[in-house]
Amino acid sequence: MKLSSRDQIENLSKFKSESFLTTSFYLKTDKSNMTKKEIALSSKNLLSSGRSQLDQMEMNKEKKESISRDLEKIGLFCSRRLSSHNFSGLAIFSCSGQDFWEFFSLPTSPRNRIIFDQNSYVRPLSAILDQHHRIFAITFDRREAKWYDIFMGEISLLENLIEDVPSKVREGGWEGYESKRIERHVATHLHDYFKKIAKRTFELFKKNHFDWLFLGCREKYRSDFEPLLHPYLKSRLKEWIKAMPSDSPSAVLKESLGLEKKLKKGEEGEIVHALVSELEKGGLATSGLKRTLGSLNRGEVKTLIITRNFYKPGRICPKCHFLFVDELRCPSCKRKTDLLMDVIDEAVEEAMDKNCQVRHIIPPTKLDRYGKIGAFLRYKT
Ligand SMILES: [Zn+2]
Repeated sequence: MKLSSRDQIENLSKFKSESFLTTSFYLKTDKSNMTKKEIALSSKNLLSSGRSQLDQMEMNKEKKESISRDLEKIGLFCSRRLSSHNFSGLAIFSCSGQDFWEFFSLPTSPRNRIIFDQNSYVRPLSAILDQHHRIFAITFDRREAKWYDIFMGEISLLENLIEDVPSKVREGGWEGYESKRIERHVATHLHDYFKKIAKRTFELFKKNHFDWLFLGCREKYRSDFEPLLHPYLKSRLKEWIKAMPSDSPSAVLKESLGLEKKLKKGEEGEIVHALVSELEKGGLATSGLKRTLGSLNRGEVKTLIITRNFYKPGRICPKCHFLFVDELRCPSCKRKTDLLMDVIDEAVEEAMDKNCQVRHIIPPTKLDRYGKIGAFLRYKT
């Protein structure tokens, strides 16, 4: 299925097996950058690196067999489906011992990886979702208005409205009286039409919640139109675009995606800046892996902020699920801790379980100087 919501990740995280490991397989399948042959080859390489990892792992026969069947199934899936797979990435989660199988088409390329762990490795999925905002793009002129929904690199037309407000004032009338009257009439007509667009936009917003609003119209209409927007919408109006109703959806999409990228970078910069100033004044924030995990264990984290592609092994308490950098024994319940391939992935899952926000920041930023990870806190103990 296509990756499109946080619920899908939460559902995936719910699957846990007591007796078997889950295989997570991420593959870059971006056909604009790679040939079909290259993609097929990289999937084979990834699977064979998985097989050699498996050979070195010490575990019981049943566990090994389950992973071995995962690798076979993934290999079969790739050989049958890769050539018709038209997305930038693919993610497969399999636990054959328990008949668990899930695959996602991804709009952005992940890093190629194969991981065997207690549960599905979901961090790359959460990072991809975090990269995308739901955008409403509206284009309008005197003749018509079009509402588009843009999400995860795809555009769909929600609605269009044809009004055809006349633009020309006819000649004639006694000393221009008639033409002035028509001019006023046209201006009122245009104003009513703009009001209609603004009203419809608010109705669609209530139905389809979006993060950002992009508007495309002639520059001279901007100052008339903007005051008609509901305050909720005004706060979401991020950019005026050049696209017009006569432009193709793909042209609207192209312009919008370019702006999204720029805005996203600016937003990430603001988050890091806010975190650093909170840290500097000793406020409700923390940084560095050890301190951030401590805050997460204590339930203090409001928003977890991590640098994309920052990975670190760590440890987890099998009983209370506290996360550590290097504690061999859990200080709270004294149990021996288990090794984790990537403690940051586990932290993301923990954070999502506790309803914290997770923000992924593209490096380089100032966060690099603060241990590449940090958090805004609800409270501090
Ligand atoms: Zn514990």
